[in-house]
Amino acid sequence: MHRRHATICLLPALLLPGRVPWAQSESSPTLPEHAAVPGGVAVVDLGASTGPRPTARLAGRPVLVRAQGAAWVAVVGFGLAADPAQPQTLLVREADGHQRTLPITLQPKRYAEQRLTVAPRHVELSPQDKARYERERTHLGEVLRRFSATREPATLRLLLPTQGPRSSSFGLRRVFNGQPRNPHSGMDIAAPTGTPVRSAAAGQVLDTGDYFFNGQTVIVDHGQGFLTLYCHLHTVAVERGQELAAGAPIGSVGATGRVTGPHLHFSVYLNAQSVDPALFLPPA
Ligand SMILES: [Zn+2]
Repeated sequence: MHRRHATICLLPALLLPGRVPWAQSESSPTLPEHAAVPGGVAVVDLGASTGPRPTARLAGRPVLVRAQGAAWVAVVGFGLAADPAQPQTLLVREADGHQRTLPITLQPKRYAEQRLTVAPRHVELSPQDKARYERERTHLGEVLRRFSATREPATLRLLLPTQGPRSSSFGLRRVFNGQPRNPHSGMDIAAPTGTPVRSAAAGQVLDTGDYFFNGQTVIVDHGQGFLTLYCHLHTVAVERGQELAAGAPIGSVGATGRVTGPHLHFSVYLNAQSVDPALFLPPA
């Protein structure tokens, strides 16, 4: 299907150093789809929600915990670099200080590979561009690690941020001119320049900027490490710190940064890991 997109997204992934009964059979109106794979989301039952909210950590990093019916659940993101052969352990700390561990088993997932020949300027950066990219990578890495503990997302189900055909290219392993790159860290939505872009959920603008690969960018903090990122924007209509309702306008589709044509690059982060946006969106 995504072959119809003539545009190529060169945005690399930022490399940052249980089982729930209902997740199998029926989808929850407020939780993402459960997909315990690299680039996916595990919805983990933490037990009855009669007591205060527990906290949970994966690899030392806080993860999102919310009430779901009569239970607390952890919603854990796994980056594309997660290794299913390695044990994944969620550390759960109850409000009374009692700690326990929950293993999470990841299933392997093989993403498609795309081999492309592109103009050398798309793969070989000048020393100045490389220095700029590295500064921006450090900044964005810090931003994307934000965990706003007191901000509670009303829902983890997202609105489609712009109208247009979605590619299924999340996780695509790209080889440009024979050189393997980081896999594609988001969903590309093809739309003409100027098409309105809206916030996929309520939140606060965490960062805006004009970055080398991403172009004009907005990052929205929905709370508890749940973030969305919008790239290659033509215009940005929001400022850092601004509160947004779900569906609020944030700018328009463009072709800024390293792209070959206008589209929205849309990424979703949980516990600082980019995960497949399709798990959060209504069916295409
Ligand atoms: Zn993209």
